[in-house]
Amino acid sequence: MNLELTDEQRLISETAREFVDREVVDRARDNDRAEKFDRELASMLGDMGYLGAPVAEAHGGRGLDHVSYGLIVEQIGRGDSAARTVVSVQTSLVCGSIERWGTAEQKQRWLPRLCSGEALGCFGLTEPDTGSDAASLRTRAEPSDGGWVLNGQKMWISLGNFAEVALIFAQTEPGSGPKGLACFLVPTDSAGFSSQEIHGKLGLRASDTASLALDGVEVPEDAMLGGIGDGFKVAMSALDSGRYSVAAGCVGICDGCVASSVSYATERRQFGVPIARFQLVQELIADMIVKRDAARLLVWRAGMLKDEGKPSTIETSIAKLYATESAVECANAAIQVHGGSGYVDDHPVERYLRDARVTTLYEGTSQIQKLIIGRDATGISAFLPYE
Ligand SMILES: Cc1cc2nc3c(=O)[nH]c(=O)nc-3n(C[C@H](O)[C@H](O)[C@H](O)COP(=O)(O)OP(=O)(O)OC[C@H]3O[C@@H](n4cnc5c(N)ncnc54)[C@H](O)[C@@H]3O)c2cc1C
Repeated sequence: MNLELTDEQRLISETAREFVDREVVDRARDNDRAEKFDRELASMLGDMGYLGAPVAEAHGGRGLDHVSYGLIVEQIGRGDSAARTVVSVQTSLVCGSIERWGTAEQKQRWLPRLCSGEALGCFGLTEPDTGSDAASLRTRAEPSDGGWVLNGQKMWISLGNFAEVALIFAQTEPGSGPKGLACFLVPTDSAGFSSQEIHGKLGLRASDTASLALDGVEVPEDAMLGGIGDGFKVAMSALDSGRYSVAAGCVGICDGCVASSVSYATERRQFGVPIARFQLVQELIADMIVKRDAARLLVWRAGMLKDEGKPSTIETSIAKLYATESAVECANAAIQVHGGSGYVDDHPVERYLRDARVTTLYEGTSQIQKLIIGRDATGISAFLPYE
C-alpha cells in the first residue's frame, strides 16, 4: 500500500493552493456578505482547468486522475465553498454526465465550452415534492413531433440562474418509476424555461441557487442524454462523482479550520499565555486534525478506486458522510477556539460552519448515505420501511 502522492499530484495540489490563496480567499468574505455569485471567479476557475479536470483532453478537459481532481477540490473548498460548488456541479454533475452518457455530438457541443468556463451548466434533479426520493420526480416529458415537451418544476438548483444548459430529469411514463426516467440537455434560453433566485440561505450565500420552471419546453429527440430508462442511472453516476467532490471540498474546510485555529491559538493570549498553552484548547485542535486526516484518507481511497476503474459507490458514500459531518464539527470547534472573534467574519470559521451545514444535506443527506452503507453491509434495504 502506498499513501504517498506522486510528484505530479503534489504539484497540482500546491498550484491549486497558491491559486486559492491568491485569488479566492480574499473574495470569499466579500461575496458572502454581498450574496454575490462571482461569475468572474467561475471563469478564472475555468482558465485554470478546474472546471473539467478529470474530463478527457479531447473534450476540453485536463484528463487528470480522480485523486488529483480531489486535491484541487480540497484546496478550493478550503478557500470558498461557493466556488467549490461551481467546480463540483460543473465538473462532476454536468461535464461528467455528458462525458459518460453523451453522444459524440452532445460532447462536442457542450464539453469544451463547459470545461473552459465559457458556459455554465446545472443539474436539475430535485423538485419541490421530491428530494431524497428522486425516482418519484414529477417533471413530465411527453413525446411530440420529432422530440419532447417538458413540463414541471425543479428546486434548489445550483447555478440555475447562470447556466446555459440544464440537465433536466423527467418522467416519460408516469407510474413506471425509474424505468420511465430520462435526462435531457435543455438550453436555458428555450421558450418556456425560466429560473428564479432563492435567497435567505444559512450559508453558501455566494453560490447561485434557483428554482426552475419548465412550461411546455420543446426539445429535439437528440437532447436526450442516454435513453429512456437511463435517467436514474445518469443521476446516480453523477452523484457518485458529485459526492466525491463534496467530500474533498469538506476536507478543505477541515484543513482551513485547523490552520485558522492554530494561528489564532498561538497568537491570542489569556491568563498571560497563548491560549494554545491550554490543554482544553489543544484538545479542540487535535480532534480537528484527526477528523481532517481521516476524511482525507477516505477521499483518497474513493479516488484511487475510481482511478482503478473499480466500484467505489460505497466508499464514496462513506467518504461523503464522514467528511461532511466532520466539516460541520470542525467548523463548530474552530469557532470555539476563536472565542467571540469566531462569531464574526474577520476569520473564515463562521462561514465555514454556515457553508459546511448544507453538505450533509445535498447530494444525498447523511441519512441517505447511511442507508446506502447499511444496505451494502446487511443486504437489506431500509430505504422504505416496508421493503
Ligand atoms: C444550497 C442547495 C443546493 C442544492 N443544489 C442542488 C442541485 O444543484 N441540483 C439538485 O438536483 N438538487 C440540489 N439540491 C437539493 C438537495 O440535493 C436536496 O435538498 C437533498 O437531496 C434532500 O432533499 P430534500 O431537501 O427534499 O429533503 P427530504 O428528502 O425531504 O428529506 C428531509 C429529511 O428526511 C430524511 N429522509 C428522507 N428519506 C429518508 C429515508 N428513506 N430514511 C431516513 N430518512 C429519510 C432526510 O435525510 C432529511 O433528514 C440543493 C440543495 C441546497 C439546500
